[in-house]
Amino acid sequence: MSHIFPRHTKAHLPVVAGGEGCYLIDTDGKRYLDGSGGAAVSCLGHGDHAVIEAVKAQMDRIAFAHTSFLTSEPAEKLADLLIEHAPGTLDRVYLVSGGSEAAEAAIKLARQYHVEKGETQRGHLIARKQSYHGNTIGALSAGGNEWRRQQFGPLLLQMSHIDPCYEYRYREDGESLEAYGRRSADALEEEILRVGPEKVMAFMAEPVVGATAGAVPPAPGYFKRIREICDKYGVLLILDEVMCGMGRTGSLYACEQDGVAPDILCIAKGLGAGYQPIGAMLCTAEIYSAIESGSGFFQHGHTYVGHPAAAAAGLAVVGAMIERELIPRVQTQGEALMEKLRERFGQHPNVGDLRGRGLFRGIELVADRETKAPFPPEKKLAATIKKKAFEAGLICYPMSGTIDGKLGDHILLAPPFIIEDAQLDELVDKLETGIEAGL
Ligand code: PLP
Repeated sequence: MSHIFPRHTKAHLPVVAGGEGCYLIDTDGKRYLDGSGGAAVSCLGHGDHAVIEAVKAQMDRIAFAHTSFLTSEPAEKLADLLIEHAPGTLDRVYLVSGGSEAAEAAIKLARQYHVEKGETQRGHLIARKQSYHGNTIGALSAGGNEWRRQQFGPLLLQMSHIDPCYEYRYREDGESLEAYGRRSADALEEEILRVGPEKVMAFMAEPVVGATAGAVPPAPGYFKRIREICDKYGVLLILDEVMCGMGRTGSLYACEQDGVAPDILCIAKGLGAGYQPIGAMLCTAEIYSAIESGSGFFQHGHTYVGHPAAAAAGLAVVGAMIERELIPRVQTQGEALMEKLRERFGQHPNVGDLRGRGLFRGIELVADRETKAPFPPEKKLAATIKKKAFEAGLICYPMSGTIDGKLGDHILLAPPFIIEDAQLDELVDKLETGIEAGL
């Protein structure tokens, strides 16, 4: 009998024995095409020797040294590399162990920044209904994923959630994409005015939404308008790129494509590519200097911040993305994947929307294309597709949820950046098998 406490207590999972490129292999020798990189993690694929060697070499030198006493070479170099390519005035990197930790650190830094500046009344965070920022209490409070929040209501912090920028569901008939983007962003100004601008500390959003709704990009101009509104009211902009960042959408930082830079940015997942647990929070020179010239101490931290072996993995992963020119490859393979999805599912009666950027693609399933009515939750469509696709040898990331009753079942695809054309065909074939079996 196993003593592992799995997330799905009723599932009996195969045991992973190895991995090679885009495939995972279980102890029975069955191969699974990793069509979602787990959860948008394995961007370099499995068994990347350069990254493994970099981690080993760091472990041979020193695995751990507490950051209260010592910094480390890989942590310093990784921070330099991330900032060299970062947008706007992002200038400092706080290394953590994953996405939820990055989100928690971002929320606390936003609050501390205002406290350091004497604006102690600013403690309200605005986020969006269609978002996921992690599973710890602060990050979960910021997220709008109803399914994940449901039973923890009494524990969650007071934050407000505005409508997402989600044109498939929220754009009105005859409204241009640009007009919708503006209207959608203006909801932030309304909420700031409702709460009282002097009380709002930050707005938090994913540039391309991942785990709540399957790769939803913003409408053109949305984030530029959001940036203007934040600046007008002295509200910090926190962008959560835990899922969509680190090359996943075709640029190292996802927000580059929207022409905006945040005050605070969160990354994780693809940063370590699964070789080590690592995330990071980046902030501007202005925010850092408010702390430096104020209390001189960020009132936050976990034992494993700045872990040297994890930093060595991050350094090797980002280095590999740049040296191997994988980000342009994400753009071409991402277009190729989208084309194949359009060919296969573009006219499918139960596929309402195909979307995304780069190798971050989403499929929204509907009971009726005309009315966009979702399938009833009792059908458990996403769960069945996940199971059937897995049996067919594909790992993909189906999800279901609801926002104001508007959201149904989605599938997120986020394969490794090294995926070949033939593997894209295999992915689409096996996905079709899973979808048809689920329907
Ligand atoms: N933020 C976003 C946008 C995510 O998609 C996730 C995880 O899916 C998180 C934060 C939380 O990251 P982690 O699971 O590494 O704690």
